Formats: sequence, C-alpha cells, structure tokens
Amino acid sequence: MNATALADLSADDLAALLEEQRAAYDDLKARGLKLDLTRGKPSSQQLDLADDLLRLPTSTKDASGTDVRNYGGLQGLQELREMFAELLWVDADQVVAGGNSSLSMMRDCLVWMMLFGAVDSERPWGREEKVRFVCPVPGYDRHFTLLESLGIEMLTVPMREDGPDAEAVAALVADDPSIKGMWIVPTYANPTGAICSQEVAARLAAMPTAAPDFKIFWDNAYALHHLTADEAKSADILTLASAAGHPDRPIMFASTSKISYAGAGVAFIAASAGNVSWYLAHLGTGSIGPDKVNQLRHAEFFGSAQGVRDHMVKHREIIAPKFAEVDRVLSERLGGRGVATWNTPTGGYFVNLDVVPGTASRVVALAKEAGIALTPAGSSFPYKRDPDDTNIRLAPTMPPLEEVTAAMEGVATCVLLAAAEKAAA
Ligand code: PLP
Repeated sequence: MNATALADLSADDLAALLEEQRAAYDDLKARGLKLDLTRGKPSSQQLDLADDLLRLPTSTKDASGTDVRNYGGLQGLQELREMFAELLWVDADQVVAGGNSSLSMMRDCLVWMMLFGAVDSERPWGREEKVRFVCPVPGYDRHFTLLESLGIEMLTVPMREDGPDAEAVAALVADDPSIKGMWIVPTYANPTGAICSQEVAARLAAMPTAAPDFKIFWDNAYALHHLTADEAKSADILTLASAAGHPDRPIMFASTSKISYAGAGVAFIAASAGNVSWYLAHLGTGSIGPDKVNQLRHAEFFGSAQGVRDHMVKHREIIAPKFAEVDRVLSERLGGRGVATWNTPTGGYFVNLDVVPGTASRVVALAKEAGIALTPAGSSFPYKRDPDDTNIRLAPTMPPLEEVTAAMEGVATCVLLAAAEKAAA
C-alpha cells in the first residue's frame, strides 16, 4: 500500500491517485450497498441483553410497600434513585427518576427557565432581550436543535481532550449577562469522546458569571459506557459547584437509554436541593407521577449499582470490536496519507473523523450516492454550520460488525477521493 501523504505527491502521481480512487469509487457504487452509520443507537444484540425486563416486575409494590401501579411518587422510585445515585456519585435525594428520555428532561428545564426562570433567576429567561448559551464544538446535534427551537443563541468554544476550553468559556461568561448557560457532555463526549477533567470541571463550577442564574447542563449520557477496562470516573460537578458557592449552577442528566432499552428506559436528573424542588414543582403541574412500573422493573432487573456495571461490561463486549474495526480500516486505508484524523474513544458511542477541510460535505455526499448513510456534515455544530467543513460523526454501534467493515472501507474510499479531487483542483 502506498501511504505517501497527498501533499508530497508529484502532479503525475496525484493524477494517478485520483484515477485510482475514481475507479475504486465506481466499484463501490456498483456494489449497491445499503449501510447506515448515522445514529448512535444500540444494536438489537445489545437490546436483547435486557429482555428479562419484559418479564418484570414480579412485584406490584416498591420497597416501601407503595403500589407502583397507582399515581404518585413524583420524584421516582427510591430504590432506583439510590442505585443511580451511587453510579453518578451523588445523593439519592438529589436525584429525580423520570420517564424514558433525558433529552425531554433537558427540554423541560429549558422551557421552564424560559417561561418561569430558574430557581435563582430575577425574571423568566424569556423576558430577557436575548438569551445565549455556550456550546462546546463539535457537540451533540439535538442539544443545538433544542436551543435553536427556543430562540436561544449559540456561542461556540472548542472541545478539547480534557473537556471544553474552560478559559474560553470563562472569558465569554464573565461580563455578558445574556449568557445563561452551557452544555457539556462530560464523559465520553458526543462526538469527540473527550473526558472532562476534574480541573476543567472545577473551573466551570467556580468561574464568575455575569448572569447570576448561569446553568451548566451536565449531560452525562455516557457516564457508564466504557469501551475499555480503564473506566473513566466523571468529575463530581455537584460537589465542586457547591464548594465554589454555586450549588444551583449544574443540573446533571443521565438515562438508561443505552443501558437497558433506548425507547423504554429510565431518565434521571441530579441537582441541588433547590434545583430538585424547582424541578418537581414545575413537573407536578403536568404529572401525578412517573411510570413506576418501569422504574421497578429496572430496579429488579439490575438489583444493584454493581448489577448495572456488570451489565455495561456485556455491552462493551459487543460494541468494542466495532470501534476497533473503525480504527483498523481507517488506519490501514488512510494512515500516512495526511487526509484525515480520527479519535479512538475509550467510551461512548461515536468516532469523530476530521477530513481535509472543505471536503466533509463532499465525503458525505459521495458516501450517500454509494449507499452509505453518514450523519450530515456540520451536524455536530450549532445551526449545522461547520466553519471548516471538516467534521464527520461516525456511529458504529448499530450495524453488525461485517457491515461496519464494509461501511468504513467505503468511507475511506470517499475520504481519499474527495481529498484527491481537492488536491488536484
Ligand atoms: N445526550 C446525549 C449526549 C446523547 O448522545 C443522547 C443520545 O444520543 C441523548 C442525550 C439522548 O438521551 P435520552 O435517550 O435519555 O433522551
């Protein structure tokens, strides 16, 4: 395999490479593939791991003797809150167990903050002239869509290996009171796999903010989703914020979407006593209690926090080989070519691929024409605008291993072709 960087090729060699890649691409199209690497969904093999849920709960009563079939228990089942409090390193009374989606809990928090204000707001955010949020990029597309839907403006900061660029965040929030909050996916970030360090978390927890009601939306969706035996521990944001005198700054979110069933799991928030009361007060106007049958089913299925950890090892055994395959194909096909960089995440659901600037949309379009669906270029940026048109998010968990291989071979061909076209232009 010729692994010379494209930038070092002579004009003749570049022309030859371009021809070679065009031929490879024609072959790829002729295969009539139908592959999908777009969304971070668990595979059916992973979902099967939790199928005992379908035969649970065996009881109709929770540990306190309450009939779970009835109304009530707005904060969620005590035993499940205790289990996830241990996993998220918080206290059970700081946890609310809700429905099947943490994204909905984030949406509820934002909507209530816009309509009524946060626990420490002077007035509803919606009455401010402008509301802005800091968004580390690349980030989770649905966070950005949610903010856009509410008319909240987005300001970007770079996502680094140890979390958001804390100095850039601190500089933005120091004297702009319209900046009311920020997103962060602290553990195995979507899509970069970054792990927020204790130092970065401490800086975010303590930094002075012009807005007195600044909020950190700490979306710990992948807290337990390790791809190696070296399990990252999330920074303890609630304690850090409390110690810094800002107990109401962070709201943590998590769910079992990629632990049990993505469509029928349990979602959680964890926050200060003030934030929990605020959340429950608003929740209570529209709900008499969560689906406690599903919560009890989960408590019985896992049995303990260790039961959840053990279950996640089974997920790891299924998906780690898929991530290894992405790395193998990219390394073999693109290594040394100077046309792409990618991460090898130690957890989470994504691989972050950066191709030659200006070619990400072309790569995604080429792949689409060859029957390989990739997340649209720019998706990991607010307003779907990647200023460098360089970033592509790969989600290898859902397809079977052989499809991951075929898809990545195809993606590599598209990356090389787009890079050769650009170099030859
Ligand atoms: N947060 C992040 C960072 C995600 O990547 C996802 C799903 O891809 C979610 C939240 C969705 O969570 P839930 O299924 O609990 O709504």
